[in-house]
Amino acid sequence: MQTRRRSNFLTDIIDADLAAGKNRGLVVTRFPPEPNGFLHIGHAKSILLNFGLAEQYGGRAHLRFDDTNPTTEETLYVESIQEDVRWLGCDWGKHLYYASDYFEQMYECAVRLIREGKAYVDSQPVEAIRGQRGAFERPGTNSPFRDRSADENLDLFRRMRAGELPDGSCVLRAKIDMAHPNVLLRDPLLYRIRHAHHHRTLDRWCIYPMYDYAHPLEDGFEGVTHSICTLEFESNRAMYDWVLDNLGPWDPRPHQYEFARLALGYTVMSKRKLLQLVAEKRVSGWDDPRLPTIAGLRRRGVTKEAIREFAELIGVAKNNSIVDIGKLEFCIRQDLEGRAPRGMAVLNPLKVVLSNWPQDRVEELEIAWWPAEPEKAGLRGVPFGRELFIEREDFSESPPADWKRLAPGREVRLIGAYVVRCAEVVRGPAGEVRELRCTYDASSKGGEPADKRKIPGTLHWVHAGRSAEVEARLYDRLFRVGLPDAEGDFLQHMNPESLVVMKARVEPALAEAAPGTRWQFLRQGYFFVDPVDSRPGAPVFNRVIGLRDTWAKATEQLERKPEKKKPEPKPAAPKKGRAEARAEVRAGNPELASRYARYQSELTLSADEADLLTGDLATAEFFDAAVSRHGNAKLVARWLLNDLLGLAKKGLEGLPLRGEDFGRFVALLDSGRIAPAAGKTLLARLVEQGGDPQRLVNELGLGKVADGAALAEAVGRVLDSHAAEVARYRAGEKKLLGVFIGAVMKEMQGVADAAAVRKALADRLG
Ligand code: ATP
Ligand code: MG
Repeated sequence: MQTRRRSNFLTDIIDADLAAGKNRGLVVTRFPPEPNGFLHIGHAKSILLNFGLAEQYGGRAHLRFDDTNPTTEETLYVESIQEDVRWLGCDWGKHLYYASDYFEQMYECAVRLIREGKAYVDSQPVEAIRGQRGAFERPGTNSPFRDRSADENLDLFRRMRAGELPDGSCVLRAKIDMAHPNVLLRDPLLYRIRHAHHHRTLDRWCIYPMYDYAHPLEDGFEGVTHSICTLEFESNRAMYDWVLDNLGPWDPRPHQYEFARLALGYTVMSKRKLLQLVAEKRVSGWDDPRLPTIAGLRRRGVTKEAIREFAELIGVAKNNSIVDIGKLEFCIRQDLEGRAPRGMAVLNPLKVVLSNWPQDRVEELEIAWWPAEPEKAGLRGVPFGRELFIEREDFSESPPADWKRLAPGREVRLIGAYVVRCAEVVRGPAGEVRELRCTYDASSKGGEPADKRKIPGTLHWVHAGRSAEVEARLYDRLFRVGLPDAEGDFLQHMNPESLVVMKARVEPALAEAAPGTRWQFLRQGYFFVDPVDSRPGAPVFNRVIGLRDTWAKATEQLERKPEKKKPEPKPAAPKKGRAEARAEVRAGNPELASRYARYQSELTLSADEADLLTGDLATAEFFDAAVSRHGNAKLVARWLLNDLLGLAKKGLEGLPLRGEDFGRFVALLDSGRIAPAAGKTLLARLVEQGGDPQRLVNELGLGKVADGAALAEAVGRVLDSHAAEVARYRAGEKKLLGVFIGAVMKEMQGVADAAAVRKALADRLG
């Protein structure tokens, strides 16, 4: 396994521990799944973190099944978890452990606590115990059994183990303090009785330890140094320490650290919900390619490299946020771009007959698998002939002005072949387009006509008779909304089009594609040959992902080329013709004319701005609606003219975004709660789907990073990678601060606050 050198708050902790000579220089981590479901991408983050740290520091990482709960755990999960961890490229070597192997040792520890007066058997029902726990501001009440003698407790605990007592009749509790400010330390439960069959210890035990008691012991027994878990366990840390402090000595003594769990939009990650989807057969199984499970991602065709890249991209933080699923999709696309040869497949075929091509002639064209880098994988033969298929969507009888595909009387280039012109449309009985009669230009072999005339568009195609029909499964997001768990029953938000099965036509070479291989279907997307359902000569193609991000184009652009972002489009310099047209409209429309005057006099906009906003009523009304929500008219005008008009290709009326929402969007920017770069991402989303700007900010995690941890990490990374400049800065070249600020802003992908960045840098640079 290969890990890039990364620094984050955890490496800072480890570095400090090593510097202080703690743990005899050891770094031991663990990944402790409960075997009650399949692993998902959130677990992948934790696995890569734990195994990555161990590798980075020459330590070791354990895989430990936290199988202390007999009723929900199954061997199937134990196996799938090992397969998934291994698939991710993580190697636990001989360090595979089961918490259940420690049951005897844990029992001995409990006996010791009882002997030392630190634990007691409580014979009240669990509900009564819960009722006595008190609340944050109110102390709890002591159990009437709290002062049982050690001997009585030992006897009862032994009888609990021996199976003499029924489920729920009593529990073992730690004796700490019923008024402790941390409610979790008010005599927490250590053991409960469960007469249940366990998948490994079978019927040997009928008492099972609680997580808060078992987990620190497991770490202690194994010599774990850094026990990393998710933030929900922050307040459990006190109990973690109590258990270890009262049952030592330990060498090394484990410590718990918390990081933010991964939450992704447009999906669910709770095991309970995933299990429900599987059990109710709403998906085809744990490895359904629409699920965020590792098995599902693998079956879809996502590589482990893409998952690792994603884990790197999102980093390790101490504040919870929802990660835009576009980031994952971006990593998947980037990865496949470099590994998937380009072939041709037609998903929704329309027949094309070349009337001037000889009846039976088939020409075997040689086309490179990698058109941009032909040396990468050579050529394959693709048959071309009189009858072809093109994509139905690539033909239009009444195309829009900027149409670059096929239409009556128009020409297109067929990839790697010839230029063809559509001469005639053949219709079926209901008037539907059944096939196209075209002519080909014999001088254009390879795609360029001899007379060098310009051919606007290029289409993919396959030979009708020599292509093969295959099954294509087009997968999309499983949920239609960003936060399926946020409102009502998550099932109601399922995307009914998350799977569309089609009969596609593929070129002959693709009909032979081996299971487990990945391809780009030109102009369509990336596909993976399903390893389960494919048969020799009959591949089933899973669409891994489309070529472009149809959900969030802007996010991708921001992430792909933050350094080369196009300069902001300036308000179109009022061209004379258009400006005159607007002036004419105003001359005939007193309503617009008065707004033109008012925008300048009252709102203090420039004449150009007022002019651009009052060329038609729709724009002016939209602007007024926005200003009604946010009075900074100059800022509203600037965002409207510079950004919104460019994004709203079909005009403001066609937008799902109302003027009022746009005003609220500008208000958010003006409040400084989101950075301008993030504002652009947000606006692109609003233009596509409308909605409440503030809610989208939360959903996309675009809020400014007020919290210092992520920022401190970014600052650390930047300073690490600019060592020479840092030295020059310290030697007096203070203007380099600007370089660092720019680099940190880039690291933070536009969601940082420049002032905070400056301050963090200044603090760090001294
Ligand atoms: P549950 O508690 O519902 O059983 P879980 O997802 O916490 O589910 P575990 O098997 O306990 O499941 O998780 C194993 C490890 O994976 C834990 O250390 C946990 O912190 C980590 N983990 C679980 N979910 C995420 C996530 N979304 N992001 C990062 N780490 C996670
Ligand atoms: Mg858990």
